[in-house]
Amino acid sequence: MKAITILGSTGSIGTQTLDIVTHNPDKFRVVGLAAGSNVNLLAEQISEFQPEIVALGNKNKLTELQQAIASLPKQPQILVGEEGICEVARYGDAQSVVTGIVGCAGLLPTIAAIKAGKDIALANKETLIAGAPVVLPLVEKHQVKLLPADSEHSAIFQCLQGVPEGGLRRIILTASGGSFRDLPVEQLSSVTVKDALKHPNWSMGQKITIDSATLMNKGLEVIEAHYLFGVDYDHIDIVIHPQSIIHSLIEAQDTSMLAQLGWPDMRLPLLYALSWPERIYTDWEQLDLVKAGDLTFREPDHQKYPCMQLAYAAGRAGGLMPAVLNAANEQAVALFLREKIGFLDIPRLIEKVCARFIADNNSNPSLEDILSADQWARQAIVDAEATLSKDYLITLK
Ligand code: NAD
Ligand code: MG
Repeated sequence: MKAITILGSTGSIGTQTLDIVTHNPDKFRVVGLAAGSNVNLLAEQISEFQPEIVALGNKNKLTELQQAIASLPKQPQILVGEEGICEVARYGDAQSVVTGIVGCAGLLPTIAAIKAGKDIALANKETLIAGAPVVLPLVEKHQVKLLPADSEHSAIFQCLQGVPEGGLRRIILTASGGSFRDLPVEQLSSVTVKDALKHPNWSMGQKITIDSATLMNKGLEVIEAHYLFGVDYDHIDIVIHPQSIIHSLIEAQDTSMLAQLGWPDMRLPLLYALSWPERIYTDWEQLDLVKAGDLTFREPDHQKYPCMQLAYAAGRAGGLMPAVLNAANEQAVALFLREKIGFLDIPRLIEKVCARFIADNNSNPSLEDILSADQWARQAIVDAEATLSKDYLITLK
């Protein structure tokens, strides 16, 4: 029986992790849950999984949550705010903490969990992208495992299980191509938020679905792969694979390629991050290669999707630049979701902000440096948006 804590329990990652627990009650036990503000769902989860401790990011909803669970015979300890979430992350005998909070908001809770000696099932890639200069040394110092739950990185990690040290030559990340993969580039300027939120293969939270449409998600995953597997940027490639059956590949020194395949279902990488190095039997639909049909591949279009190159550049610059890229992207995506900017303004704004930051990049940043670069980039996006020239702005529907 493994004790786990789930941060972001009401989101796409959180609910899919809890689905694994529901179907494996003899293997997993929930110690703590943390969520932002979805009180109704959190109350249901408390009733079903009976955690010892719970945190609610939104302090204003505490009374609502207390009322929603008042009739339960067993009451968990309830905390609020960021410090409450950090306390849940470090609490009790949980061995693994699943990081399903979206964005850099997951950074401090992840650090809290690592310092408490918990293994991390890492879904929240923004944490590693912004915080790697601090997170990786802490993982080393506290001798915890940082296990990828992002499907591509799980695929790479699974392929690597049979490869000796020094045997890896190249990583190939597959990308579905996102909501607009078949749309001509000329039409991208007028796409709506609703269009962008329709992902062809995966059902995910809003932010990552927009990141998939801009292909920034793949760019962020390049940086994530660099930090997780220690591979330099010249040896991490992206290939578009519309069917999302091959979740990523590795090439060994002798040119042999290994791939991991499966239906697009996040529960598989989440389960592996929790069960590694074991394999747990599931009754999920088995992959039928004939039913999956043709598997096709094409080169990513960097003209249509500049976010990938922005991410490679930020990754190569290193230091604080990935944190700036990440925060700029979070802020730009939030503006797009609020219909304040057009789809193509997302990369435009991010590029402006990263270009402004170059002189201040710091190759060996502290946590404070990372948090202040994050804040700087968010404000810089707001400033850059204000100066977008009128004829440059897209007519929003
Ligand atoms: P989501 O929007 O569905 O869920 C986010 C969760 O985080 C919710 O429970 C929300 O309440 C909580 N949250 C948000 N802001 C918070 C804050 N400030 N404080 C506390 N809690 C907060 O997002 P998601 O799709 O589940 O993605 C979560 C993370 O996993 C992201 O980093 C994403 O990149 C990564 N990821 C997701 C998928 C997927 O299939 N959904 C796949 C790979 C990686
Ligand atoms: Mg992914």
